[in-house]
Amino acid sequence: MQWHPAAVPLGVSVLIAAIVATVAWRRRHTSPAAPALALLMSGLVLWASADALERTSVSLGAHLFWEHALYLGVVMAPAGFMALALEMTGRGHRLTPRITLLLAVHPVLVVLIVATDPLHHLFISNPVLIGVDPVLLGWERGPLFWAHTAYSYALLATGMGMLIGAWVRSARAYRRQLRSIVLAGAVPWLANVATQFRLIDVGTLDLTPIAFTFTGVVFAWALFRQRLLDLVPIAREQVVDTMGDGVVIVDPHERIADLNPAAIVLLERAGNRRGSVSVGRRAAEVFAGWDDLVPLTDEVAREITVGAGTGVVDVRGTVLRDRTGRSAGHLLVLRDVTRNRQAERVIATANRALRDQVSTIEAQLATIEQLRAELQEQAIRDSLTGLYNRRYLDEMLARELARAHREGYPVSVALLDADHFKHLNDTYGHATGDRMLAAIGRLLGLGVRGGDVACRYGGEEFLVILPNAGQPDAMSRAEQWRTGCAALRVAATDDHTGDDDGTDADHADDGEATVGVTVSIGVSTAPQDGADPASVLAAADRALYAAKRGGRDRVVAARPRSGADL
Ligand code: GH3
Ligand code: MG
Ligand code: MG
Repeated sequence: MQWHPAAVPLGVSVLIAAIVATVAWRRRHTSPAAPALALLMSGLVLWASADALERTSVSLGAHLFWEHALYLGVVMAPAGFMALALEMTGRGHRLTPRITLLLAVHPVLVVLIVATDPLHHLFISNPVLIGVDPVLLGWERGPLFWAHTAYSYALLATGMGMLIGAWVRSARAYRRQLRSIVLAGAVPWLANVATQFRLIDVGTLDLTPIAFTFTGVVFAWALFRQRLLDLVPIAREQVVDTMGDGVVIVDPHERIADLNPAAIVLLERAGNRRGSVSVGRRAAEVFAGWDDLVPLTDEVAREITVGAGTGVVDVRGTVLRDRTGRSAGHLLVLRDVTRNRQAERVIATANRALRDQVSTIEAQLATIEQLRAELQEQAIRDSLTGLYNRRYLDEMLARELARAHREGYPVSVALLDADHFKHLNDTYGHATGDRMLAAIGRLLGLGVRGGDVACRYGGEEFLVILPNAGQPDAMSRAEQWRTGCAALRVAATDDHTGDDDGTDADHADDGEATVGVTVSIGVSTAPQDGADPASVLAAADRALYAAKRGGRDRVVAARPRSGADL
């Protein structure tokens, strides 16, 4: 062993590269570029440490061993850089297994060549003493070394080209991040050129691995500190972090890539342990119990009941695509709609109750209206005959007489009384009497004209008001009723049925006993027989009395017909 001053910067590089490689590997799930960075930095650890160890070696064998080992690290750098450039410029999808395999061809080939180099010396040949105190050997290079170098530069140049292109085309928000990356990427080139052309005097030290380490650190910083949302600090802090909606970004591997405080609160409320929701967690774990939300579909618009039914979350999700249309993860917006749903339920229940009450009230009102109409009808109708009752008659007669007086036309009334009705009741029973009264009622009800009012005046007495009918007209109408009544027959179904008492019960063809009745009718006419209800009725009553006295079954006018009545 010997001391070599270059061992210090190289050692520091090894340390830094090792730290960055570890951090990148730990964060391999948070960013797809992290594994590529870990690869690049691991290569640099090997490269710089082999370089340092070679410088501190004294024997030729050790020198050669570390020189060979150094290339294990060297070949990892272009491949790692290329993979990083692809991921950082949104071309991560190009890293298909085939391309990855293709990128691996060079390192594997170089490793094989270096391993077999003592046999063919096509990579490194004769050692050249380039330093004496301390001892340092340089090496003559073989053709395969130059092929390797050309390929490495080509790959690095392609990667740089991609980064520069992305920087030039990038939107403002990304420009800062890409500028850091491009500038950092240029450092190893400068270092290489400076070393090769001895632009700065660093002795025999190769600055390239040290410069690459610096590049790796900047890349790591850009990757982990300048993430997409960090690029727009105002939006991130003032909008995303303070918004009430939860925002979750899920990477293509279905891991949480980012989320805001509202999302953490929501996810914890939905059943995640406090403090357990963080970047890097598997979405399937964090969203366990979210009704199979994960695996995520391209577009999500669902309302999901969470926390064992205690909450409702409106989930809107959309796939994030890179420029080539490949899925770059998902953006989920979560909104707690528990209160909205509760309020809607309360309102719906109240509405239902209100509707029920309204329909109950409507039904009750309809019933009341029907009852009222029935009652009104009952109040003015006679139940046995269906004609108007006495109360209604009094009202109507007064009204008709007043109108007739106003308009100057006559009003007649016909007071009709069944003859010997008591006898009919006594002989055939009350039920037969009722049937007869109902039959007379029907006859009168059907026989009246529009405007006439027929009513049951008393037990077996009826009264018809005939507006605009003079005495002769009324007399002839009354006569029709008289003959009509005389022709009525009703069933005589009582126990007493028989001819033995000398009444006029007949037997119809089918053998059923029937009975008839006659009526006496008194007719009076306003205004000549009286102008008010009482006097018109009294006149009709007098005429009826006269009809009874005259032998019944007849029509009598209150006053004998005179020329003036016509
Ligand atoms: P008149 O020829 O003089 O009128 O003799 P009448 O028997 O008809 O006279 P009266 O006024 O004495 O008798 C009326 C009878 O009418 C008495 C009652 O039994 C009977 N009557 C009254 N209302 C009803 C009723 O609603 N149904 C039945 N079946 N009979 C009734
Ligand atoms: Mg009577
Ligand atoms: Mg009578």
